[in-house]
Order: sequence, then structure tokens, then C-alpha cells
Amino acid sequence: MALLQISEPGQTAAPHQHRLAAGIDLGTTNSLVATMRSGVADTLPDAQGRHLLPSVVRYTDDGVVVGEEAKAAAADDPLNTVASAKRLIGRGLDDIKRLGARLPYEFVQTDTAVPRIRTRGGDLSPVEVSAEILKVLAARARTVLGGDLSGVVITVPAYFDEAQRQATKDAARLAGLKVFRLLNEPTAAAVAYGLDKEADGVHAVYDLGGGTFDISILRLRRGVFEVLATGGDSALGGDDLDRVVARWIMEQAAIGDDASHVVLRRLMRDACAAKEALSESDRVPLRVSLGAGACWEGELDRSTFDALVDPLIAKTIAACRRCFRDAGLGPEAVKDVVMVGGSTRVPRVRERVGDLFGTTPLVDLDPDRVVAIGAALQADLLAGNKGAGEVLLLDVIPLSLGVETMGGLVEKIVPRNTTIPVARAQEFTTFKDGQTAMAIHVLQGERDLVADCRSLARFELRGIPPMVAGAARILVTFEVDADGLLSVTALEQSKGVKAQVEVKPSYGLTDAEIETMLRDSMTHAGEDLHARRLREQQVEARRSLEALDAALASDGDRLLDATERARVEKALSHLEQIVAGDDPEAIKVAAADLEKTCDFYVERRMNRSIQNAMAGHKVEEFE
Ligand code: ADP
Ligand code: MG
Repeated sequence: MALLQISEPGQTAAPHQHRLAAGIDLGTTNSLVATMRSGVADTLPDAQGRHLLPSVVRYTDDGVVVGEEAKAAAADDPLNTVASAKRLIGRGLDDIKRLGARLPYEFVQTDTAVPRIRTRGGDLSPVEVSAEILKVLAARARTVLGGDLSGVVITVPAYFDEAQRQATKDAARLAGLKVFRLLNEPTAAAVAYGLDKEADGVHAVYDLGGGTFDISILRLRRGVFEVLATGGDSALGGDDLDRVVARWIMEQAAIGDDASHVVLRRLMRDACAAKEALSESDRVPLRVSLGAGACWEGELDRSTFDALVDPLIAKTIAACRRCFRDAGLGPEAVKDVVMVGGSTRVPRVRERVGDLFGTTPLVDLDPDRVVAIGAALQADLLAGNKGAGEVLLLDVIPLSLGVETMGGLVEKIVPRNTTIPVARAQEFTTFKDGQTAMAIHVLQGERDLVADCRSLARFELRGIPPMVAGAARILVTFEVDADGLLSVTALEQSKGVKAQVEVKPSYGLTDAEIETMLRDSMTHAGEDLHARRLREQQVEARRSLEALDAALASDGDRLLDATERARVEKALSHLEQIVAGDDPEAIKVAAADLEKTCDFYVERRMNRSIQNAMAGHKVEEFE
């Protein structure tokens, strides 16, 4: 008879309570699903033993076909076969046109701004197309695991904006799946490596897939890793390598831009095959169908290919350098570079990445599967199958967050590339005597002036007890949760009045906008410094001017004689004039001047207020 089993306190009681979960790498080109089985995360094959599911969906009269079969039919039935739906998901037709990709589909503009692709299966949105891919992967997981999924983790490129993330979640919902969370692809790869290798130190994840490039800098410490910075390009990948090869073939074979969709599709397929073959051999023979039975024959060698793709690889290297600047590190700080994505099989890519980091890139985990494996580990964690504190996942915010202060300046509270979740607080005070409300303006960006940053939200804190300027203590707290949701709270500390607002900071921006904002902050650094100093001096000076005006109005007549008053007023109007100019130094000097001129007056006022305060009291009370 078997012994009865008793689990340890706090441990899962029975194996059948293990909740089924899966990680899905919903790629532009290929998608995968992975799960934990017997404590090991691995990708799941289909009935034919294939792990990669091409992200291609074909609509036929008999229904929907997904994967290899659809991909094979793509060249002959381009209008009803949708590939790279991920490039279109969450985007409007204008964005898609701006992508510049030659898309063979027929787009139908609908009233919802979501473009639909006209196919034999109807007018379909990229969300619906992606849902078909997810359905196939989820079914595969159910078959292998023998049960229903409690939830999934789906990976997305680090630079997906809110609309793209939301659209991905919608696709999952359409496929009948519960999304535990979306996970950035490079972060998922890092989870896979972070657990497999326990080396402490700084690591980079270089992910060049079919449609996206992501670079992440991570620090591993005792099994916990932290993302120090991320960067990349959401419109650069293996597809672009295919495109330059296809262009080259078009030139060689004298194929014009007006060639039919069918010819162009086949050409892309041939270009892709040639590129992949060149990862193994030094030269590949080419045989390109020109339609109507005609064809062109030629050859592409490795060095010609390298020259063609070098400018694209150089773009990824430049993005890596930018990312390292952000992290405040040099590429030499990196111990290992993890290579992710099918395009990292290109020898030239490995070579250039190796040159940059001065180390041989790591390719020991299958670059196609790493992301799905990391997602599976995370899904298992979120399904509640592991104890807390297993893997700490940290993401970063792409641009600094702050509030507007006097003078139209931005005070940064959470600097860019701070890991999330994060909570940061700073004290602010009132500008005027008796001020009972405060306008909090939440901003995002790297520049010093409000006008150059992006406004995220405005809210007001009311009910501040009236006090003299500078006496109130308002604690402004910024909190960004693990999903990137920002909430800002303003709390007046004496009476506890509070106001709060929630904003989505990062995902509303496109990478292009983020890039522009960063570039601007660098090119305008000197200008910004001057603007900041000027505004600060102006705020200070205006505060003095206001206080002096108020004092003169209340007791100037009684405390000053005519000459004294003329002297004070002269210094005052001099400062007023200088303040309107743009020389911070001059304002500082004039303000100091005014202060010196008014010293005697301030002293008189102080003595007088002491007398007033003491009137009616016995001297002893003050001892
Ligand atoms: P995604 O994450 O965008 O779906 P993948 O990581 O699956 O992309 O990578 C797909 C890309 O990798 C495609 O552009 C494909 O042509 C390219 N690729 C796959 N194998 C090779 C290879 N052996 N040599 C060069 N490129 C390859
Ligand atoms: Mg990928």
C-alpha cells in the first residue's frame, strides 16, 4: 500500500491542483507556445513535430488555415493570405502606410479607424487574424497538457504602444484566452537565461527577429535580474534583410516595381530562402520566376550579401550604443550578449555584435525558442504554481516623469529608465501666502521646460489650510505599477487632504516620438540649462517683488519717509525691468541689490510686528 503523502506547510497540496498555463511568443514571422512540464519549460511541437508556427493565416472557401500550409500558399494566393499581422495590429491605416512596407493586401477603411483586410473570408482586422494564430497555439497546448489553460503570458516587443498592447490582448480574448500579462520579449528571453545561468553581472539581450529589433541591458544578481535600459526599433528585422535582397535581385533580373503581386510575393520568398541559406554557405544559386514560364538565374555570395545588409545591421548597433548611454555604461561592461530571434543566425550580425561588445555572443539557447520559454516560466509563476519571490521581473519607463513647477519648469521625479514598479515622492510647497489650492501638472520628457515635454494629466489639490508661502508641505508621490500604469497623488501633510490621478505614461507614445524627445533633449541641453537658470531667477525675483509690493501697500506709508520710499521704489522698478529680460546673471545681481536696499525696511517691519505681537501681553509671557 502506498504511503499517504503530506505536503509541507504552505506548499501546493496535490499535483492535480497544478494550474495549466502557457507562454506564447506571438511573433511577426513565427509564433511558439511553451509550457512547464516536470519543472522544465520547453516549446511544444505540433503533430508533425514542428515547434515554429509561421504567423501566416490563409482564408479559403473551406475555412481558415494557419501556419506552414498557409505560408506555402501565400505566393499563389497573396490577397487571401495574411502574413506579418503583428506589424499591423493596433495601428491605423496612416501608420501602416508610413511603415513603407510593400503590402499586397487590399485594405478597407472602416468607420472605426481600424483598417480591415479584404479576403475571401470577409473584411478582417489584424486582431482577428492574430486570434487565429493564438487559437492554434492554445489548442496545441491543451492537447499536449491534457486540460484547459488557466491563463497565458503573451510576449510583445518592448516598444509596442498602448494601442498595440491592447489589440494583442483583444486578440487573446477573441481566441478565448485569459491573459495573465503581456511581457516584453527581451525580458522574457532574460527570464529564460536568468534561470538557466546563474552568473552575476551585466548582460545584453540582442533580439533581431523577423519584424522587430530590441536591445536590453540587464543586471543579474543572485538569480534576480533588473532591466537597466531598453531600446530598439519596432520596424527593423529579418523582413528588411529580405527586402534588400529582393531589391538586389530585382535590379539583377530587371524586374520592375510594376510586377504582379504573385511575382513579388515569390520574389520575397526566394530572397528570404537565399538569406537563410547564406547563414550556412558562402554562396547560393538563385532561380527566380518572372511569371508566364520565364525565369532568371543567378547567384548571391556572402560578401555581396554582407554589403547589402550592413547598413541595416549598423542601425541596430547604433541603437545598442544609445541604450548603453542611457544605462550609463559602456558596451565593455557587458559580460555576455544573449542572441535572440531567427535573424541572429546571420553570421554578419554575430560578427558586428561581437565587435561592439568585444565578446563572442551567446547562442546556446535556441534563438527562436528563448522568448517562449521565458514566457512559459512567467505564466507558471502567475498561475500560482510557485512560491513568491521566484523571479523578480522588472521593466523600465522610457521617458522621465515629473511635475510642473513655478516658471514653467519641469521637476523630474522619476528619471527615465528607472525600473518599474517604482514609487518616488517629493515635497512641494505653496508659492503665495494663503494659497489653498495647487495645480499639479504631470509631464513626461527629458527637456527642462514644460512646453517641450508631453503633458500627461492635470489635477488640483484643494483644501490646503491657508499658511504663509512656503510653509505648506505637499507630498507628491509618483507610483508606476508593473504594467506601466502611473498614478500620481498629492497629499497635504498637516490636514491630510489628498488628490489623485491615474495616467498611462509610456504606451501612448510611438518609438519615433520617444526617439525625437531624447534627441531633442541632447541637442538642446545647453539651451535648456540657460532656460532653467533664467526661469529660476525670474521666479525668485518675482517672489521678492510681490512680497515687497504687498509690504509697501500695507505699511510703506507709515514706516518709510519720502526719500526712503523713492530709493526702495527705484530698486524695485529696476529689478522689474531686468526680470523681463533674458539674462539670469543680471536678474540675480538686481535682486541682490534690491534686497540690500530694503534691508533697513525689512528690519523695521520685523521690529514692528514683534511690537504688535507683544501688545496686550505681559513681557513675562515671552521669557
Ligand atoms: P519574429 O520574432 O519576428 O517572429 P523570429 O525570431 O522567428 O521572428 O525570426 C524570424 C526571422 O529570422 C525571419 O526573418 C527569418 O528569415 C530569420 N531567420 C530564420 N532562420 C534564419 C537563418 N538561418 N539565417 C538568417 N535568418 C534566419
Ligand atoms: Mg521574436
